[in-house]
Amino acid sequence: MKEVSTIVILFGGSGDLAHRKLYPALYSLYQQGLIKNHFAVIGTARRPWSHEYFQNQVVKAVKEANGNVEEKEVKEFASHFYYQSHDVIDVEHYIALKELASELDKKYQAQGNRIFYMAMAPHFFETIASHIKDQQLLGSGFNRLVIEKPFGHDLATAEKLNQAISASFPEDTVYRIDHYLGKEMVQNIMPFRFSNSLIEKIWNKNSINNIQVTLAESLGVGTRGGYYDGAGALRDMVQNHIFQIITLLAMGRPSDLTSEAIHQKKQELLASLVIPTPAEIKKSFVRGQYLAGSNHPDYRHEDQVDENSMTETFVAGKVQFAAGPVAQIPIYFRTGKDMKEKLSRIDIVLNKEQPLYGEAKEDVISIIIDPVAAISMMINGKKITGSALRLENINYEFSSKEMDEVPDGYVRLLRDVFLADRTNFTHWQELKQYWRFVDAVEETWQTENESGVEMDFYHPGEMGPKKADDIFESSDQHWIFN
Ligand code: NAD
Repeated sequence: MKEVSTIVILFGGSGDLAHRKLYPALYSLYQQGLIKNHFAVIGTARRPWSHEYFQNQVVKAVKEANGNVEEKEVKEFASHFYYQSHDVIDVEHYIALKELASELDKKYQAQGNRIFYMAMAPHFFETIASHIKDQQLLGSGFNRLVIEKPFGHDLATAEKLNQAISASFPEDTVYRIDHYLGKEMVQNIMPFRFSNSLIEKIWNKNSINNIQVTLAESLGVGTRGGYYDGAGALRDMVQNHIFQIITLLAMGRPSDLTSEAIHQKKQELLASLVIPTPAEIKKSFVRGQYLAGSNHPDYRHEDQVDENSMTETFVAGKVQFAAGPVAQIPIYFRTGKDMKEKLSRIDIVLNKEQPLYGEAKEDVISIIIDPVAAISMMINGKKITGSALRLENINYEFSSKEMDEVPDGYVRLLRDVFLADRTNFTHWQELKQYWRFVDAVEETWQTENESGVEMDFYHPGEMGPKKADDIFESSDQHWIFN
């Protein structure tokens, strides 16, 4: 593989994401030869670490992620890491960073190429972006910006952040990461839809009755109460992961597989996103909070959570498009914390044929994203039970090979950044539409809060509040997974 020469400047170098995901992912790219001799990583954060201490942390992170690594190779990899301690709001920091970056550029012949990675609390993103510009941190070769979620808190803050970023980084150099887009089965949605005539032929409203996206977590907020209480399930999960999945399910067939063609189709679809009215939100959306469990209090008594909090730990709702292959078909979603089990799945529910056999159920195609990667079909068949004949759902399941052989989402996404492939990153035009939708729901909820409407509650281990079973447009629709 051809090596990419670059200096990576990582804001948040001592953080959890860097340790658990980014260092192991970079190591994997190093093993693949995508980065080898002509790269260096500058980690920046507040802690007063030395280069040596940082390098030891990188070795530790790689070993924690892969049990079986060769000591010499990991140490050689870690020798490319440098640490710069400073506060992100301090101008001097950027001047020192610039000097270190040029020094390393010469040492490693990185050709003036820079990748800036913002892996910090999102309220710093704008400050970092403006200092990169003011202190002229850009290199003389390519410059790319990788930015973690959340991108803004609503459309207005996202627009402000985007403005700050675009002063240094044109849209085609910005990589807004959504790690769901790196997951095996999310990456499989397009090939599944566009390489199988069986599937492509039924991907329309004559055949599909409704689509369901479920992203469930089995734990509560734990130590992240402070962040979560300012966000909630709609902003934390729907605005990004759920919308990305829905976009892949609803977009039309791109003319080819270039990033431009794919983003063009996504944007065509999103221009037709139906923004729900307050009346529709009241009818088709449910928000909930978890109650106390055996090992944690109810959400409002979690650490760093406001005891009168109206932040939802669960949301169910409906998305519809006016155009595209599944125009007008209801796409239901739900996501939450402290639910029955940790899983991510998509269920495509087909229209029920007038059955000759009365007991026939609707056919369902399911794409299971986590915890295993699988596609299954629930179709009607004949089963012999004793002397009687009866119809039963048969589950045809294809599972991808061992999950450990599948590269982690961050390995794929970082590789794409090095290779300048923006297919699996969120374009600003897409993000804007996601925020418009989320803002409409948030505004309605805010009005409800002001008039004293209470949240719905659910017990840990349930699939959200009971009311989430009543959001369907017609009485024969129901959640496939329960
Ligand atoms: P973290 O709190 O573990 O790390 C934050 C980093 O920022 C640390 O290195 C800290 O030293 C540094 N920092 C904080 N204040 C600073 C300051 N004033 N000046 C300089 N450095 C400062 O956070 P994290 O979990 O690594 O998350 C980072 C980003 O990644 C967030 O945007 C988060 O939403 C996103 N993210 C994290 C995960 C994950 O698994 N941790 C997953 C997906 C997305």
